[in-house]
Amino acid sequence: MLTIALSKGRILDDTLPLLAEAGIVPTENPEKSRKLIIPTTQDDVQLLIVRATDVPTYVEHGAADIGVAGKDVLLEYGGELYEPLDLQIAKCKLMTAGKVGAPEPKGRLRVATKFVNVAKRYYAEQGRQVEVIKLYGSMELAPLVGLADKIIDVVDTGNTLRANGLEAQELIATISSRLIVNKASMKMQHSRIQALIDTLRSAVESRHPS
Ligand code: AMP
Repeated sequence: MLTIALSKGRILDDTLPLLAEAGIVPTENPEKSRKLIIPTTQDDVQLLIVRATDVPTYVEHGAADIGVAGKDVLLEYGGELYEPLDLQIAKCKLMTAGKVGAPEPKGRLRVATKFVNVAKRYYAEQGRQVEVIKLYGSMELAPLVGLADKIIDVVDTGNTLRANGLEAQELIATISSRLIVNKASMKMQHSRIQALIDTLRSAVESRHPS
């Protein structure tokens, strides 16, 4: 059995057409189904539906052989995973943001984010002292109520920031979703997984000719 971990929403929507080109089609709609293990038209391939931030965990521990995860999630997770293919889907940017026109605070910067490891690394590289405040969502609120000076979050159109009087400031990383593979699976099921990677690579390249 080849097990593929995916998260609902953007990643699922954009990954299913790519998997379909490899002949892998779920037998029921994963967005609607309450099932967390979804069979596919290939008897020996199944999908696991997990939270986006949990995809690398399932794959690193071998509960799934393969997964699709945003680069933002992978940067935060770290871990020992193969990342053989940029699927060029769910693109966005990981950025710092703050209140429009707010002066740089003197002294220690307070940064609210769910990307705690990314934030610590980013400011350490700049030699800047920061207090990182972990949040699980609605980061945009933090500067408005004085919880933090800045946030680090993924930005697509920037509409969410604008609607809250915030502006994107520094680019930390450009983000897209990546295929990730468990290291042992890559050895044990090499030809099968490599064939899937090759098919997906062709599908991606035909959508994004360079
Ligand atoms: P925006 O288009 O900038 O208003 O984005 C709205 C919200 O959607 C952002 O704050 C993010 O939380 C989320 N978002 C946008 N693009 C992505 C993406 N590619 N992956 C994950 N979350 C995203």
